[in-house]
Amino acid sequence: MGSEVVYQLKLQGQRWLSRYRGAFLSSVATASCIFAVRTLGILQLTELAAFDRFIQLRPIEPRDDRIILVGFSEADLQKLNTSQISDAAVAAVIQRVRAQQPHVIGLDLYRNLSTEPGHSRLLNLFETTPNLIGIAKVVGDQQGETVAGNSVLADAGQIAASDVIADVDGRVRRGFLFPSTDQPIEGLGFRLALEYLATQGIFPDSNDTLLQLGQTSFHPFTPNAGGYLNADAGGYQILLNPRGEKGKFRMVSAWDVMQGKIPPQLFHNRLVLIGDVSAGASDSFFTSYSSASGSSPQPMSGVELHANLASQIISAVLDRRVLIQTLPEWVEWVLILGVTVGSAWLGAQRGSHFHKLGWIGFLILSFSGMSYGLLILGWWIPVVPSGLAIVLAALIGMTTEAQRLSILSNQDGLTQLANRRSFDEALELEWEKAWRSQSPIGVILCDVDYFKFYNDTYGHANGDECLKKVGMALKRSVKRSFDIAARYGGEEFIVLLPNTNTAGAMAVAQRIRAEIEAMQLEHKGSKVSPFVTLSLGVSSIIPSSTITPKAWLEIADAGLYEAKQTGRNQAVIREVPGSSL
Ligand code: GH3
Ligand code: MG
Ligand code: MG
Repeated sequence: MGSEVVYQLKLQGQRWLSRYRGAFLSSVATASCIFAVRTLGILQLTELAAFDRFIQLRPIEPRDDRIILVGFSEADLQKLNTSQISDAAVAAVIQRVRAQQPHVIGLDLYRNLSTEPGHSRLLNLFETTPNLIGIAKVVGDQQGETVAGNSVLADAGQIAASDVIADVDGRVRRGFLFPSTDQPIEGLGFRLALEYLATQGIFPDSNDTLLQLGQTSFHPFTPNAGGYLNADAGGYQILLNPRGEKGKFRMVSAWDVMQGKIPPQLFHNRLVLIGDVSAGASDSFFTSYSSASGSSPQPMSGVELHANLASQIISAVLDRRVLIQTLPEWVEWVLILGVTVGSAWLGAQRGSHFHKLGWIGFLILSFSGMSYGLLILGWWIPVVPSGLAIVLAALIGMTTEAQRLSILSNQDGLTQLANRRSFDEALELEWEKAWRSQSPIGVILCDVDYFKFYNDTYGHANGDECLKKVGMALKRSVKRSFDIAARYGGEEFIVLLPNTNTAGAMAVAQRIRAEIEAMQLEHKGSKVSPFVTLSLGVSSIIPSSTITPKAWLEIADAGLYEAKQTGRNQAVIREVPGSSL
């Protein structure tokens, strides 16, 4: 009883394995392929580009009016008649801004060295403006060059880092909360946001390693976050969630500010960022939005970049605007594996290719749609490897399934020999070949003796087992690769022997008979032998127009009939009339 259950389970398992072999193989192949390609970093640029595309496609967000930018534009520099922004000009701007009582002023200009005229006036302003934050370059650029902050501001703790980190493709998609874990200097955008939020009564909890402001947590960027691979995650970084292309913050000209040509309440209770936006400024960056409008990439000025980070932090805390988050790596892999298996299963289903391709297209579209929807909700899902997995797994699944079906349609399920359909095809082909080369072709028809009695004695299941063994004996007896052994029907078998004359075919027939005899398969119902035996009809021919393949097989069948009539367990040759081989 127990062994019967085990046998049934085994049978079920085998059936399942053979049915879903295609799906299983394509899952494994695809998953390892994706894993290799992804861990080698080949997909990183594509994943980042796909991320950019989704970011650009998001609904347009309103301007953040909490932040006002003051830019020294090219026109302003010309009006000032200088290429270098003097301390006097900066002082004049700060004085005007300060007069309107902003919450905080960010000065995105290095003032570590004096730029006369006006240096002492500027220092004086620095000393008397506690809500003004200047910059220093903390980590430095590729050459490792750092820039000190103005000493007056530094002594008062009013310095933030201007450092920016770019990706392998030169685009900026991350921002620093702290550029370095060794120094307690915040990134400029973060520091300005902190100052702004402090005026709203919101302060960070300094005990925690995870930054928390109000209800919002800022999870640090990790080297393999989202589509990244081994990115530099130094300091404390977060993924940027920019509001849009340039122009998402109101910018006024520094010259207009100096001249007082601004609305009286423009800066009141706002976050003001002052910086150089002239054409000569080295302070501009490509972002996820840089290629949104047209073919030539549009960079964003440094002030806008810092404003974006500040705005992102402030609105995440005050408006609960989403931050961009990534899944833990293992979840990403489970997701990729999930779509791989799903798509492989789909590919291995029965049905037309056309139908399946439609489903694959639907799967890709809905997965992309879902990823886009999730990005709007703030979750960055790996869409490129998943899309690739869907296509690959489905194609491999479809191919292996097609292969399986083609084998099934040419093979006999019980004996694994060729079936009658594929034998008929082979016969036609070999007939043609033999005709062209005028070479002989041989055939052997075999039938198990008293097989009806075998079934009656041992049962149908054992009958099947017996046929399997006969099939294997046939395979063993037919040695040349181009010989074809097939199951011709019930317990009848047929062997086609290209390039074989009657004597050769007879030799093979005797070999088959001997092979069967040697197995000594018990057959109590047989009247000619205690073991299973075969009767065989043999014929050979050089094809010509006087006879069809079908008529030739009938001649071989007559030989088989004669073998049965004259005692069984023997092979009988039937020559084709008018030919002698
Ligand atoms: P003989 O050929 O020697 O004249 O006697 P026979 O008993 O073999 O006669 P016949 O060819 O008429 O009977 C064939 C029997 O083979 C009938 C059927 O029960 C059995 N058979 C045919 N196909 C299968 C099969 O796939 N499995 C099993 N178990 N039996 C089969
Ligand atoms: Mg028969
Ligand atoms: Mg028989």
